[in-house]
Amino acid sequence: MASEKKAGRKRITINAHTPLKDILELGSVCRKCGHCCSHGSGFLTREDHRRIAEHLRISENKLKEKYLEEIEKFNTRLWRPRLKKGPGKENLPYGKCVFLMEKGGQKLCRIHGVKPLQCRIGNCTKHGEKLTLWFTLNYFLNENDPESVRQYATYLKSGGKTLKGAELNGLVKDKGKLDRILSYEILR
Ligand code: SF4
Ligand code: SF4
Repeated sequence: MASEKKAGRKRITINAHTPLKDILELGSVCRKCGHCCSHGSGFLTREDHRRIAEHLRISENKLKEKYLEEIEKFNTRLWRPRLKKGPGKENLPYGKCVFLMEKGGQKLCRIHGVKPLQCRIGNCTKHGEKLTLWFTLNYFLNENDPESVRQYATYLKSGGKTLKGAELNGLVKDKGKLDRILSYEILR
């Protein structure tokens, strides 16, 4: 069953097509404890690159070079703040976000006012898992890229979680085309 929350008088349901403004409302509660930022970082949208670079007064290229790393999922590459890992832990998938700083005993985000979209949608509430799935489905999965669709199909087949509205036959409505994508008749 889809996740729901009453925000004011409005009931929000999380599915693959929930509008961003509703997602931001659901994920807006952050106590700034720094816990999630100590173990990972959030992906940036294109708009985030510009906003964060402006905030730091550096070029977008410099931002990438100095602070970001590129990750691929479902054949889409997005950038996220680099993770700092201790010696011998370079291959671990988690680490401390490069923008997390400690000040007066508090863990704070150096770019809080312009932090990446995935950081803004939240991930530690009871909706966290669904919010993370929403981000993945909306920003990594690309229905116009056959390879992205194939990788998503493999993910689903191996038991990967998804949200209502992101079923394969809804993603590519033409069944013949979907079959040709999955059988590699359509490559790109
Ligand atoms: S979103 Fe992260 S920093 Fe904010 S309260 Fe949750 S765990 Fe803490
Ligand atoms: S950018 Fe800020 S909010 Fe996002 S993971 Fe890093 S420290 Fe946390």
